[in-house]
Amino acid sequence: MMRVIGWILLAILLQGPCVAEVIPPDAAAVEGEVKMGTQAGLAAWVTAFRPRALAAGVPAATFDAALRGVEFNPKVVERDRNQNEFSKTVWDYLDTAVSEDRVRLGVAALARHAELFDRIAAEYGVEKEILAAVWGLESAYGTYPGDLPVLGSLATLAYDGRRGAFFEAELIAALKIIAGGHVDRFTGSWAGASGHTQFMPSSWERFAVDFDGDGKRNLWGEDPGDALASTANYLAQSGWTTGQPWGLEVTLPEGFDYDQTTERVVKPVPDWQALGVRTATGADLPDHGPGSILLPGGHRGAAFLIFPNFQVIEKYNTADAYIIGIGQLADRLKGGPPIAAAWPRDLRALTLDERKELQERLGQAGFDPGGVDGRMGPKTIAAVKAFQKAQGLIPDGYPSLEILTSLR
Ligand code: CA
Repeated sequence: MMRVIGWILLAILLQGPCVAEVIPPDAAAVEGEVKMGTQAGLAAWVTAFRPRALAAGVPAATFDAALRGVEFNPKVVERDRNQNEFSKTVWDYLDTAVSEDRVRLGVAALARHAELFDRIAAEYGVEKEILAAVWGLESAYGTYPGDLPVLGSLATLAYDGRRGAFFEAELIAALKIIAGGHVDRFTGSWAGASGHTQFMPSSWERFAVDFDGDGKRNLWGEDPGDALASTANYLAQSGWTTGQPWGLEVTLPEGFDYDQTTERVVKPVPDWQALGVRTATGADLPDHGPGSILLPGGHRGAAFLIFPNFQVIEKYNTADAYIIGIGQLADRLKGGPPIAAAWPRDLRALTLDERKELQERLGQAGFDPGGVDGRMGPKTIAAVKAFQKAQGLIPDGYPSLEILTSLR
């Protein structure tokens, strides 16, 4: 994520058609079954962690100065534990992600930093509208980079231990950012992603660049140059193909075989064309190489033909809705149209409990969902499809309330 963490979490927790908000506005309190840590517990953890950090290359002086008085933040733990409780349908997510406001502000940001965007796009081969879209989704073009102390969030999560090793490594990377003099203090999301494009510290280590040449890889300053170039570098290193679209909206013909609508079925464009797939306006498909058909809202929603750049954005955040949000916002910033198809807005997102119940009932009915974890991953979607076929329904794999109801 550039939220690289926000994204990673989103990615891990929210595959499939539902997306959790990274920071839900109304996060519920943690239910009593898990014990909450304390400030004293964190202080003891920091003492035990110190030799490990020093062994990993963090200077003692940096460690002591940076973590002196670091505060335990129970809200961060609550968010970590509850994140996948919050889900949205893909259309609700896109309404916010690609709002008219965000489009308008993005056009203005591209104009304001036109020369910078052009230089970065030329150097890294990543289109400026994609970079602007990431900036727009991750921090509203630098307006909301997050206000929680990153070290406090990471130390709290490392100490809390649910994913302790992951967050301890991030904390070590964050301390190295400070040790290197790139920034003194930085704030970010509850999960420790920070800066204009919400990098996790480990992503800073791997991908951040000093684009303005001041000797610092600074993703947090007023000037977004380092952050945007780092984002371009992240995508370029992840395999971005210059000039290839992330995907495009398409229409499917009557009687289309819905077994074909999965990221795992990849065909050359002429094959899709032969099957009757056309652009949203009914035109012939442009050939950008092999692609897949995706139906993020089921057969009653929009269909997309996606290309390998889709999977590059996926390395940022695996949630389909996020990737479509980036792609669609970038398209709008280029002057493209909104998504043409309607969405099934009468359907609501399933809650976590309902998603688990759906998996449980699929399993009981003989359709293996690959586990009961509330994640609508490929196995669950395949199980939904098999169930739909057995029921004589259109097998689009969309885990709707109707499916759960008929399983009941
Ligand atoms: Ca710099």
